[in-house]
Amino acid sequence: MTGSPSEKEDEYFIRMDFEKKKKLEEEKHRKLGKEEKKKLKGLHFMRCPKCGMELIEIYYKGVHTDKCSECGGIWLDAGEFETLSKTDKSTLSGLFRMFTK
Ligand SMILES: [Zn+2]
Repeated sequence: MTGSPSEKEDEYFIRMDFEKKKKLEEEKHRKLGKEEKKKLKGLHFMRCPKCGMELIEIYYKGVHTDKCSECGGIWLDAGEFETLSKTDKSTLSGLFRMFTK
């Protein structure tokens, strides 16, 4: 699939916006102390970023995802999105069936 010029433009602006936000976040992270980071991790580990409830891990054909036990949001670790993008359609629909149960 080749993107149209306007799609390419959209991608560019989304990327620029992301980079800008990322820089701001990295600045904040630098100011956080080690202990503070540890505390935050303890508070949020395996909890849904949207509603704060526990996440349930799902492993399916080499893809690891976390699904919220409350709102049903699905979260991916670093690299898992890439794995998903390379996954064949039948695996994806298998995953989808599990999520919609
Ligand atoms: Zn949730």
